[in-house]
Amino acid sequence: MGLRATAWKYVLVGGLCIVGAYFAIPSANGQTVVYSALGTASVVCILVGIHLNRPKDRLGWYFLALAGGCFTLGDDAWTVYDAVLHLSVPFPSFADALYLAGYPFLFAGVLRLTRNPNRSVRREDNADAAIVSMGALAISWHVLMNSYVHDTTLTTFGMLVNLAYPMMDIALVFLVCRTLLFRESRQPFHKLLAVAMLTMFVADFIYDLLVLQNRYTSGNAVDALFLIEYVIIGVAALHPSVAAGSSEAEDGEIIGSGEEASVRHRMPVVILAGFIPPSILVLTASLGLSANVLVIASLCIAVFGVICLRMIWLIDRIDGQTLELKKNEDYLRHMAFHDELTGLPNRALLSERVGQALASVTRSGRSVALCFGDLDGFKTINDTLGHHVGDAVLVKVGTLLESIVRPEDTVARIGGDEFAILMVDVVNPDDAVDFAGRIVTFLHEAVEFEGSQAGISISVGVALADSATPVEKLFSEADAAMHEAKSNRRSHVEVFESSMRARLVERLEFTSRFRGSLERSEFFLDFQPIFSLGDRTLRGFEALVRWHHPTIGLVSPLDFVPVAEETGFIVPLGRWILFAACEQLAALNALTDESLTVAVNLSRRQLVSHLLVDNVRAALALTGVRPDQLILEITESVLMENPEQVLSALTELRALGIRISVDDFGTGYSSLSHLQRFPADVLKIDKSFVDQLNVSEPAGSAMVTSIIGLAHNLSLEVVAEGIERQDQFERLIELGCDYGQGYLMARPLDRRQSEALVEASRGAVVAP
Ligand code: C2E
Ligand code: MG
Ligand code: MG
Repeated sequence: MGLRATAWKYVLVGGLCIVGAYFAIPSANGQTVVYSALGTASVVCILVGIHLNRPKDRLGWYFLALAGGCFTLGDDAWTVYDAVLHLSVPFPSFADALYLAGYPFLFAGVLRLTRNPNRSVRREDNADAAIVSMGALAISWHVLMNSYVHDTTLTTFGMLVNLAYPMMDIALVFLVCRTLLFRESRQPFHKLLAVAMLTMFVADFIYDLLVLQNRYTSGNAVDALFLIEYVIIGVAALHPSVAAGSSEAEDGEIIGSGEEASVRHRMPVVILAGFIPPSILVLTASLGLSANVLVIASLCIAVFGVICLRMIWLIDRIDGQTLELKKNEDYLRHMAFHDELTGLPNRALLSERVGQALASVTRSGRSVALCFGDLDGFKTINDTLGHHVGDAVLVKVGTLLESIVRPEDTVARIGGDEFAILMVDVVNPDDAVDFAGRIVTFLHEAVEFEGSQAGISISVGVALADSATPVEKLFSEADAAMHEAKSNRRSHVEVFESSMRARLVERLEFTSRFRGSLERSEFFLDFQPIFSLGDRTLRGFEALVRWHHPTIGLVSPLDFVPVAEETGFIVPLGRWILFAACEQLAALNALTDESLTVAVNLSRRQLVSHLLVDNVRAALALTGVRPDQLILEITESVLMENPEQVLSALTELRALGIRISVDDFGTGYSSLSHLQRFPADVLKIDKSFVDQLNVSEPAGSAMVTSIIGLAHNLSLEVVAEGIERQDQFERLIELGCDYGQGYLMARPLDRRQSEALVEASRGAVVAP
């Protein structure tokens, strides 16, 4: 490794010293030996470099070694004629054959070592290299080649050999410009090679000139250039960058700006070279020198031609960029009017289409229907199964909606989980409502995710416009209807009615009114008693939250809990409810020997919050309520929405000794058999089933009968809620229901009332 890293430096310094020493050698023979030794050393360096650096692609270096070998052998052949045989070197000689044979290897080596699989040589690079080479050719022609052509002492073959040298050198210039100079961020060994090649070009040119003028003798200063070239090639081969090969340096190159910069940097050279042929023409003409006008003028035309090509390509490129810009612009316009995830039109495009549809309504006399749909429980899917599942559901819903609308209708995504369908040319408004109903059932059947049996459901609000209704009005009506559908548990489709608007506005106002409400103690809990039906004694309470707003007065949880849930306010509110319920229960239990219970309602968001278990633990610890005195109520629909997530939260809570009650049982979509999977302890039969209990009509009892039977089979306790009549009460006792709650026995009680009840009850029968 040490040698690999430093060899090139020693060779560089040592080599240059030898070049310096070369001129100090007194005898021409001694010089010749050193000259030949340096050439040979250069070839050896290449071979050693291959061995040390182990480049991936060795062929290029072997080509360079062959080229070096040819040149050195050429030198040696020359020496044999000159110093050994003491002959004047004939022309062309065997040495020329060797020299010229070296060039193809040189080209092959340079090409091979500058090959970059990641980037093709651009046509502009070729054109620019051609211009530079033609400039060099013009000089070379004017100074050297023209003389060869007109040299009558030469045979045709001799002339061709003579011309071959500068031609090869020009070809070398082309190659070096194209592959080495006009590229950015090359490896150090590439730069060394470029320096070596240009040195060789200059040396050849000066040498040829000296020979032409009969001024060359061996030991001339120009020899130094040839020797330096040998040294640099050896140094290049030994440089550690050889190991990396030709491509790596450009792997990280930013195509584009870097390239433009390199084009700009080369321009002065290219322009200067382009001026050479015409300048020679002008100079020779004005100074009255002889010149081969035909060749130089042809070169002028050729340079001009290449410049024209460059211009055409430039225009092409600008056109390409303009096209690209336009594509970008189209894309941006598309993005401005479409939803990125689903590709559906967005709110902006929808409102444009609604505008157009409404304008045509005035003409056709038909109506326009706008449906807004909001996915139920989407937030939970997102929170629990992850955003990728959420995204997949949205895309799927979008596709499904598109598949069922008519081609002239528009499906749009107008918000997180909100979709809209614009129906045009609606002849009969009932059709639109029917269609909305079909969307609900269709989606419920069609969307299933991650193997969960809980489908997705959508609540749809429909608004109709029959004359030139303003676009915003139709939007807000559809929105109001959708919110209505969402808050109404029974129906998933609502058609806009003017009464909804007031409620919507109210809803929106809640959001701002929540701010600071907890700090101002605007909430309190009512406790509704729950009785044991068998012995009619007090069993415990359900905590029901109340909001006393300073200006609107008492607000029902049915109105604000869904809004709190939507906005996330339910999280701090729920924590407050949990603590307050435990605190209130502790106060009640202090009045009696009985161990009364409190049931606290949990909402969807609370259940998926990772803070829930900690909050429950803290509430118990702070108030001294025992875990078996706390019951958490979860509605059946929430249970069914995300079984896995809920399951783990419930399991953890039950491990604390807390009981779980399934609220509003019978209203969700769960089949009774699903119940087995949930860690529940209590079932609360929904009021709607209790309502149907009728002594005179036993059919109404069927549901309640089977729920009680099932619950007992699963060792669950059963609570009937919403008992309002004596006959319901008695029927429930007959059916074996364990507990009951309802206005018949007691309404939700404030703190003072519940304390009074507990004091009065102390083991006594309090229910009717
Ligand atoms: P729920 O949990 O099913 O609560 C029972 C509701 O039925 C209560 O209404 C209660 O006052 C009412 N109720 C009880 N007995 C009768 C009866 O005999 N007849 C009639 N017509 N109604 C009866 P409330 O307090 O308005 O609560 C409504 C819903 O609001 C609750 O339904 C529950 O889902 C939610 N809620 C109430 N408090 C909370 C709470 O603290 N947290 C959460 N997350 N939700 C709550
Ligand atoms: Mg409840
Ligand atoms: Mg209930």
